[in-house]
Amino acid sequence: MISRTDFELSIDRPLPRRRATVADAPALSALTTLGVGGPADVLCRPADARGVRRALAAARAEGSRWRVIGRGSNLVVDDAGVDGWVLDLRRLRALVVQDDGRVVAGAGLPTATLLGETRRRGLGGLECLVGYPATVGGAVRMNAGGRWGVVGARVASVVAIDRVGNVHTFDRAACRFGYRTSALADHVIVEVHLRLPRVDGVAYRRAVEEIHREKASRQPLCLPSAGCMFRNPDGISAGLLVDRAGLKGRRRGGAQISEVHGNFVVNRGGATASDVLGLVDDARSAVARVHGVDLTLEVEIWRRRAT
Ligand SMILES: Cc1cc2nc3c(=O)[nH]c(=O)nc-3n(C[C@H](O)[C@H](O)[C@H](O)COP(=O)(O)OP(=O)(O)OC[C@H]3O[C@@H](n4cnc5c(N)ncnc54)[C@H](O)[C@@H]3O)c2cc1C
Repeated sequence: MISRTDFELSIDRPLPRRRATVADAPALSALTTLGVGGPADVLCRPADARGVRRALAAARAEGSRWRVIGRGSNLVVDDAGVDGWVLDLRRLRALVVQDDGRVVAGAGLPTATLLGETRRRGLGGLECLVGYPATVGGAVRMNAGGRWGVVGARVASVVAIDRVGNVHTFDRAACRFGYRTSALADHVIVEVHLRLPRVDGVAYRRAVEEIHREKASRQPLCLPSAGCMFRNPDGISAGLLVDRAGLKGRRRGGAQISEVHGNFVVNRGGATASDVLGLVDDARSAVARVHGVDLTLEVEIWRRRAT
């Protein structure tokens, strides 16, 4: 069987005519932190914004759907993979840091690099990004953060490409940041402009280390996961609800509801998406039965469209 999967297709070179076979198809499991999921029809790694526009045009020309993957840390990709094009933006890693606190970061830059490099230059304000893997684009799209603030608060503007290839600059108000949401969902973020405060380096470093320690004591950071599976219903911890419904530690295949934090499903080795999604269903039904609360997913599930 011939699939339309192109391995490591670099879109800044001419599009290859050859399509690889299914056997060559790289599973998206390698591109997600949970480590589950099958291949995409087409996986491409644009090197710059021009490459992103070319990829979108090519997907549009063949009537295919497209999606963007950052660090894959908020995704559960189905075992059958996904239809259409997946744009992996990790090559967009530019970073410019100015002493006055203005920072420009490529969408594919790891947030850990952003945090480290800005801290080295005496800039702070990114405590909200400590303790989890992400790209700058993914974090901004999700308005990632938590108890220590949200990244949207540090954004000055975002450069993003819409589905027909037009480039837009969104100021912070236009991004409409909310709880794990933004108005950037139908766009490909290529560049983020931040405004960061100058800070006392020693105090900031201590604060960052303390947040790391605190997270490591509460979350199963040593095992692959996609972070919290469910949003916290108003004022309640979803993890606590799962825990009190007696689901902590439940296993399906290689997946387990973490014994450390009830809102994390971890991959203990060899987990499949169906193991993970089975546990998600178990947790939802138990919490609905025991607490009368309908949990909403925080992670995104990527599936093939039914044909
Ligand atoms: C151990 C662990 C702890 C976590 N803790 C937290 C936490 O405390 N707070 C929190 O908010 N999250 C947390 N997360 C979840 C996750 O890290 C964040 O949601 C993160 O922002 C996702 O970034 P990403 O680059 O991995 O995006 P992905 O997971 O790859 O993608 C997430 C969504 O963003 C879209 N996207 C990605 N890049 C772009 C782009 N350039 N342009 C447009 N859309 C894009 C994707 O299409 C998808 O819809 C945690 C995850 C893990 C594994």
